[in-house]
Parts: sequence; C-alpha cells; structure tokens
Amino acid sequence: MDGPGDILPSVGARFGAKPALVTATRTLTFAELDALSDRVAAGLAARGVRAGRPVSLYAQNRWEWVVAHHGALKAGAVVNPVNVMLTPEELAFVLRDCGAAAVFTSAEQAPTVLELTRDLPELQMVVAFGEANGAVAFDELLTGDDPVPQITVDPDAPSTIGYTSGTTGHPKGAVQSHRAVLLNCALTATMHGRRPDDVVVTALPAPHVYGNVVINGTFLAGGTVVLMERFAPGEALRLIGEHRATLFEGVPAMYAMLLADPGLADADLSSLTRCTVGGQTIPLSTIERWQDRSGAPLIELWGMTEVAGLGTTHALYAPPVPGSIGVALPGIELRIADLEDVSRDAPAGEPGELMVRGPIVMSGYHGNPEATAETIEPDGWLHTGDVATMDATGHVFVVDRRKNMIITGGYNVYPAEVERVLAAHPKVAMVAAGPVPDAVRGELACAYVVPVAGTDPTEEELLAYAGEHLAAYKRPRLVRFVEALPATSTGKIMRRELIKQFTP
Ligand code: ATP
Ligand code: MG
Repeated sequence: MDGPGDILPSVGARFGAKPALVTATRTLTFAELDALSDRVAAGLAARGVRAGRPVSLYAQNRWEWVVAHHGALKAGAVVNPVNVMLTPEELAFVLRDCGAAAVFTSAEQAPTVLELTRDLPELQMVVAFGEANGAVAFDELLTGDDPVPQITVDPDAPSTIGYTSGTTGHPKGAVQSHRAVLLNCALTATMHGRRPDDVVVTALPAPHVYGNVVINGTFLAGGTVVLMERFAPGEALRLIGEHRATLFEGVPAMYAMLLADPGLADADLSSLTRCTVGGQTIPLSTIERWQDRSGAPLIELWGMTEVAGLGTTHALYAPPVPGSIGVALPGIELRIADLEDVSRDAPAGEPGELMVRGPIVMSGYHGNPEATAETIEPDGWLHTGDVATMDATGHVFVVDRRKNMIITGGYNVYPAEVERVLAAHPKVAMVAAGPVPDAVRGELACAYVVPVAGTDPTEEELLAYAGEHLAAYKRPRLVRFVEALPATSTGKIMRRELIKQFTP
C-alpha cells in the first residue's frame, strides 16, 4: 500500500461482505464502499479532474463523505477536507487558495457554493450529495460507467491538505503525504489493537485528523465504523448499546457530556472494551468517572493536524500511565526543547516545548512558507506549540499550549491546571479557564463553569475548592457560570471565544 487510497481495494477484498460503515441513513459493506468509491474516481477522471489536483470536501459526517473521500484518493487527487464550520465565503477562500478542481458538498449548500465560486477558473465542478440543485448530482457519478483510473501514487507526494481546528486562530492547511496519512492510520490501529470484530461509535468529524485515523485505521483492521452526523450524548449512548460497540472515541467535552446525560443511568455500555480520547486536555477525574461507569479503559492520545493524526498514545499491551498522553508512536522521535533555546533539551523532567520528528510530520502549511519555517526546524523537528514534560520511560505529560499561558503577577499559570482541579468538583460539569485583564497583576485566571444540572454552586465555594488544591499564585480569582462552552467543529473548547464574549 502506498497511500490511504489503497486501503479499500486491499481490505475490501478480504472483508467484502462485512459492514464497514454505518450511518443514520445507510450501511455499506467493504465491497460496496470500494465499488462506490471506484465510481467516484471514474467520474472525476472522466470529467477531467487529473491526478495531483486538489478535491475539496465540505459537508457533515455522512456516508457520501467517506465514499467521496476514497473516490478522490483513488483518482490520485489531493484531498482537501474542509471544516464544516467554515462559512461558504470562507470555503470559497480555501478553494481559491488551494486551487481546487472539484468540491463535494451537501444539496442544501450547493447553490451558495456555486454562486460563490463562479469566478474560480480552476474549479471544474461542484458535486452535491442528494438533489443536484444546479450542481452535478453525486448519484450521477455513482451510476456512471466510466473506466476507473489506474493510479500509482508517489508515497511522498501530497495526499491531503488538512486544516487545523482553529482553536487558537485561523485554521492552517497542513500538507500531508500519502505515506504520513497511511502510516498514521496503521500505527493508530496497532497501538489500540484494532481488530475485525471491532465496532467503533464516533462523532469525530471525518475531515479532522483524529476522525480520519479512527475511521481509516478501523477500516484497515477490517472493523466497522458507526459514524454519527454530529455528537449528541443520548444518541451516542443509544448507538453504543444498539451496535454492541467495542470502542467509543471522542474529545474530552464529549465524555463530559456523556457523563452528564440523563440517559447514562440506563445505558448499556457492557460491550465496550476500550475507548479513546484526545484533542484537548482531559481532567483525570473525567477519565476515572468514565472508566468506572463503562468498565473499559479510556486511552489518552495526543495528536495534531501537522502530524497527520496521532503523535503519542498508550499501547494496549502496556499499562497506561494515568495523566500521560502516552509514548511516541513507533518510528517517531519526541523531545522536550528548552522554552528559550529550542536547540537545547529542557532539563530532564522539566517542562519545555514538545517537538516531533519522523515520517508523519507534514511537509508544510499550504501556501504559507513563513509559518512553515517557524514551525519546522531545518533538521526536521516540528514545533507542536505544546508545553510538556517527559519521564524516564518516555511517557509525555502535557501541561498546556504555550499560547494559553496566563501571566499573573509575574507568575506563569496554565489554564489546564486550573481546569483539571475544578473539573473534579462534584457540581462542575464542564470548565474552561482563561485570562481576564487586571490593573494590578496584569492578568487574572478566570474559570468559566457549566454546573452539573440541578446543582447550584457558588463562586465562593468553587474558589475555595480551587484554593485547597492549587498553589496560591495559580488560583483562579473569578468564576463565571455559563450554560455551555463554545466549541470548534472538532468539539474542542475555544477559550479565545469565551474570553472574547466575557471581556469588555
Ligand atoms: P489551531 O492550530 O488552528 O489553533 P488546533 O491546534 O486545536 O487548532 P489540531 O491540529 O486539531 O488543531 O489540534 C492539535 C492540538 O490539540 C495540539 O497541539 C494540542 O494542543 C491539542 N491536543 C491534542 N491532543 C491533546 C491531549 N491529549 N492533551 C492535551 N492537548 C491535546
Ligand atoms: Mg495547532
């Protein structure tokens, strides 16, 4: 196999009649997924979309998305999965920026997308899932009889231009090679011991790297993916029971919502053998509560778009170290760099910037050589922007992102530390911390709290609790109660949005 486009032809041959993908509207076997994506590849090639051209995908999780993804890969296209939270105007910018030859979107969005992309000279077609609405109907591709292009890809050529979550600013397009994407799927599948009898329930967005390695890593192993269009805790609990899921996989906020859902009491989670979580810091208390309730280990992982998926996780064959994001994937190097001088390692056990090197690292940010040069050192080390420590066994512990640091009275405080403490309070369902300006100390830490339904925590009570567990300078000085925390399409809490909403 040279790239992710080879997954279905090879696995499809071995697991043909087995269900590969289950969505609310359709179940597809491996053979069906393989055959339908062949049709898409043939349809793209027949309409003049040549190998090496970008093909964008802009829609919610649905079976058509997965078929179009593999079809584009089989046509040798560079896949550009677009975050659905981008507005059609922002989509048009991305299409222009990457010179997309085709874009797949929903029937509802198709007219707007057509309108906004009228003047894009390189765009050959807009394909709509469902009704054509002026675009090319997806069905037209699926029912065509054009020959399937016979493509061999260069493993080091671009496979995907994947956009980051946009948690800290504008999303950036990471160019990932066929080798990087396929390798990450394979390593993820190995680390989590994926097997043909696995059934994964997930609402991770397919365009995101975590969603991609979960979906395609499971396909590689011959397992079944039950893909939710969007996350809803009650529905997720129901699907786990109905499909006898062996894995649930999601970001920390999803676990917090599952644990707070009224359906949890009656949910049947007995089929789960392990779950995975990553994308943002998860409080230990959330891990423990989910493990207690589900009876399955909750395996932490750390990843980023710039490494085409995961960089670390715990292997099922080794005992996990609580609070750690695990160890480097096989073949991947990690180091903790001095925060002031990246050429030096931080002293053993001390926090520094987590650096990654190896065949999963992106080739760069699309059309942004400055950002690429700032992110990848000439000797290949990628700056993750995350502050972490590493112990003698190679286990990594994330402190927080460098950018999140709050400076209060000259001391550095990482919001993640504040969040970890408050998340353990019985009246706290979800929490995020961020800075508020202060005339005396420069910044103060403020905790934004979603209370557990039916409880009425007070600011004094939570501040006192935080005070018992945190050094004086790290204590939050303010608590604001909110109904929900703003999230990215990946489900990550956007601290910068909270800060914007609440800071005058
Ligand atoms: P942007 O780069 O646009 O601000 P983003 O960094 O959230 O968005 P992603 O590539 O989706 O975009 O996420 C990678 C980041 O997510 C990592 O750099 C890290 O900060 C965070 N992350 C991922 N897994 C974990 C984890 N297990 N614990 C803590 N943080 C994590
Ligand atoms: Mg990032």
